[in-house]
Amino acid sequence: MRINRALRLGVGAIALALAATACGGGDEGSALDHAKEGKLTIGIKFDQPGLGLRNKDGSYSGFDVEVAKYVAGKLGVQPESITFKEAPTPQRETLIENGQVDFIVATYSINDKRKEKVDFAGPYYVAGQSLLVKADNTDITGVESLTGNKKLCSVKGSTPAQNVKEKYAKDVQLQEFDTYSLCVEALRNGSVDAVTTDDIILAGFAAQSPGQLKVVGKPFTTENYGIGLKKGDQETRDKINDAIEAMIADGSWAKAIQQTVGGASFTPSPAPQVNRY
Ligand code: GLU
Repeated sequence: MRINRALRLGVGAIALALAATACGGGDEGSALDHAKEGKLTIGIKFDQPGLGLRNKDGSYSGFDVEVAKYVAGKLGVQPESITFKEAPTPQRETLIENGQVDFIVATYSINDKRKEKVDFAGPYYVAGQSLLVKADNTDITGVESLTGNKKLCSVKGSTPAQNVKEKYAKDVQLQEFDTYSLCVEALRNGSVDAVTTDDIILAGFAAQSPGQLKVVGKPFTTENYGIGLKKGDQETRDKINDAIEAMIADGSWAKAIQQTVGGASFTPSPAPQVNRY
């Protein structure tokens, strides 16, 4: 009798422990399950003008935000039912793996290292690494001028920072921050000579303060922006790919890019072809 009770208690404790583990790692269910319930949590940047920006009034704007809203719409979720969550560069894979977001639309380059942890729909845009300097700077004119101990700023865990480390490590001092807005602040106060990341991101910062900052040189990498999602969730990936294709086909993509980042000093690249791997 006593043994029996101990056994029952033991089984109960194990069941409780299992339930606790299941609840521990973020929300249950796939992105499509959440969409069916009428809500989605989408990771974006909060500090990148023209791409993913949280405005002072609490609203969100930028090309990534428009892509996120369009995709959500195709999954049956209204814009007001989207919870936007900040997805800084170094945290993106973890946010997806832990189920803290359904997917991420945040200037997120598709690459093999990231594909070990997450899957990508897209690409929905093709950017290229470039350089941002103060408007009166004359000695940095492009990637070939990254010599002579220049101080460069980029973001931890980003592909541009990785690229600088691999290719220009001997010639530049790289400072790595958590966000590009911190890099731009360092550029303004003179503690770094240049900021490096994708041209479209830098163009957004330059447009925010006309006459003070400029993007220089030609883009020197290819950054395919994907929508990051849970590894192995092929159904969600297919649906998001359908949505990106529809956004391009019905003209919404062209309208969104023109309204958010297109301008006198930046010509966005044309819409890419979605890659159904
Ligand atoms: N596209 C690059 C990356 O995913 C740089 C932009 C970013 O850090 O979000 O690493």
